[in-house]
Amino acid sequence: MGAVEEVRIAKRTGFCYGVREAIDKAKEASAAGKTTHTLGQVVHNEGVISELELLGIQTVDTLDDVDHGAAVVIRAHGVRPDVMERANARGLEVIDGTCTWVIQEQKEIVKLVDEGYTIVLLGTPRHPEVVGLLGFAPDAIVVDEEEDWEAIPRRKKMALISQSTQPPWKFEKLAAFMVSRSHELKIVNTVCPVTIRRQEDTLETAREVDLMVVVGGRSSANTKELTRLCGIAGTPAIQIEGYRDLTDAGSFKGVRVVGITGGTSTPIEDLHAVTRRILELAGTPDARARADELATAALSEAATPAGRTTSLPSAKPETSRPTSGAA
Ligand code: SF4
Repeated sequence: MGAVEEVRIAKRTGFCYGVREAIDKAKEASAAGKTTHTLGQVVHNEGVISELELLGIQTVDTLDDVDHGAAVVIRAHGVRPDVMERANARGLEVIDGTCTWVIQEQKEIVKLVDEGYTIVLLGTPRHPEVVGLLGFAPDAIVVDEEEDWEAIPRRKKMALISQSTQPPWKFEKLAAFMVSRSHELKIVNTVCPVTIRRQEDTLETAREVDLMVVVGGRSSANTKELTRLCGIAGTPAIQIEGYRDLTDAGSFKGVRVVGITGGTSTPIEDLHAVTRRILELAGTPDARARADELATAALSEAATPAGRTTSLPSAKPETSRPTSGAA
């Protein structure tokens, strides 16, 4: 018999505002009768993508797949400047969903190039946001894990900047490391506040519960970081992609209160489905019987409707979305 009585969802989880706005822009364009595409998946989540498809919004890999005059939505990660130029030159209606924070990052990196700095960019090399930033600073040196850092050259004038979702501790550690690499070091902290708040709220929840369930893509760096933080709080954590991964009630043996958090590409509605699954799988008899009601209450505590995946109407019920993918 299960022992789980309560599941708490960390506050300020769900999509970040950048992803949410890009989704809203795509829906608005389609609702206005435009033939709408997104350049790359607006978020790596099959449920959201199929919902957009139901609204007639297609994901394309290249601009060549978009007909002249049709609308193309640039996702929150942004793109290289030449991609934007090509879209305009091809006569496409460009709807720029680049997150305002990422636009700021792009402006900062252009300034660093103009000022003659050797730029070190902390980020995941092939991540679309990093690829976009490199379009503005082709000579920037991208580093990720600590073992990469030794390869950073020594230069008189260096600058450090970050991909938005990098962990703040890593950025600070790299900044300290780079002091010995340069005579003049300029640090531009572009770690997104959403990332910082999500980590704070995850830590807060982890300290209050017996076990954490972290929901997000297996390869998502920001999701892995949340799992690591739970360990720092001294709370065991299970990382999953979605509620379907929860099949073993044994993982919740002796657990009374469970906490849930999710990466930036995990819709908060998915956390409702995970909550319900935990209660059905490992809840006390009372919690099992009231699984849906308790999951809905946990979601209401965690996010107002304005903080949900999209502020625009859904094509299908929110809680029926399938699992989330990589952030
Ligand atoms: S994580 Fe921050 S910077 Fe990146 S898309 Fe979301 S809100 Fe924008």
